Amino acid sequence: MKVLVATEKPFAKAAVEGIRDIVENAGHKLALLEKYSDKQELLDAVADSDALIVRSDKVTAEVVEAAKNLKIVVRAGAGYDNLDLVACSSKGIVAMNTPGQNSNAVAELAIGMMIYISRNSFTPGTGGELKGKTIGIHAYGNVGRIVAELAKGFGMNVIAFDPFVDPEKIKADGVKPVKTLEELYENSNFLSLHIPATAETKKSVGTLLMSKMPKGACLVNTARKEVINEEELVTVLEQRPDLKYVTDIAADNQTLLNEKFAGRVFATAKKMGAETAEANINAGLAAANQIIKFLATGDRTFQVNK
Ligand code: NAD
Repeated sequence: MKVLVATEKPFAKAAVEGIRDIVENAGHKLALLEKYSDKQELLDAVADSDALIVRSDKVTAEVVEAAKNLKIVVRAGAGYDNLDLVACSSKGIVAMNTPGQNSNAVAELAIGMMIYISRNSFTPGTGGELKGKTIGIHAYGNVGRIVAELAKGFGMNVIAFDPFVDPEKIKADGVKPVKTLEELYENSNFLSLHIPATAETKKSVGTLLMSKMPKGACLVNTARKEVINEEELVTVLEQRPDLKYVTDIAADNQTLLNEKFAGRVFATAKKMGAETAEANINAGLAAANQIIKFLATGDRTFQVNK
């Protein structure tokens, strides 16, 4: 079988070598399409592929249509909003992600951005500390849980909101579960966003929630830019000159934000939450292993288009 790794933003070299070993040791063929700039290159490469590994690459209905032999696509990462699940399902293609494999990298970046903004973007001047502050975790999944753990190490109070996680499990981690989003935002000096981008969550964070945040609070986004209502973000930053916004996923209006709110906003140059060698290797190898297992036994653990 042919396993294609199609990555506009390539994996670390060690990850590619590991993927190759797993695929070839199982008797399959590996094909690599890296740093491609034209969609046509992807359409050509998938034409005879049986399995596909991608990162943030978009697997659209057009890609699915071109992939006549495709049986499985794995997004090496957590968020899978780049996969057209309906198109995959309609062709009987199994879609998976690799949950948890890059969570530590993302969580460390969230904490790093909190320190950066608290210390005046590393410019001279009096900053603030994380110790003693309250951090609200919006969605207590793989990344949220690790942010909570790291934050406790910094001496922060941790509260969390996730309607799909048993509050007793949250409590067992030494984190206070709160019942409403309002309560979460009202009490968070730092608010760390970890919701997936879904129909329900897109544009769900805006004036209503942000205006509830305490004086000097900071919203930290390592989730997706789509979950923010960007027009309202501008309004609330105008109305509340004490609020800050740091993000790993530049807003569509980031240039405007940077100009208008210099020193209070920060965006990484390119999404880099999962950009560590460790996360690359973990997610890449997990994707390869999931494919090999699926092709050998039909195992569908981590399928997301059920
Ligand atoms: P996860 O699937 O482990 O956790 C997501 C959590 O969100 C779950 O606990 C779920 O119950 C909760 N949730 C879903 N809908 C919700 C809602 N409406 N309100 C509150 N909670 C809700 O995912 P994860 O690994 O923790 O990643 C979280 C998100 O971070 C991903 O969906 C992805 O978009 C983003 N991410 C970004 C990077 C990056 O490079 N910056 C890397 C990995 C993940």
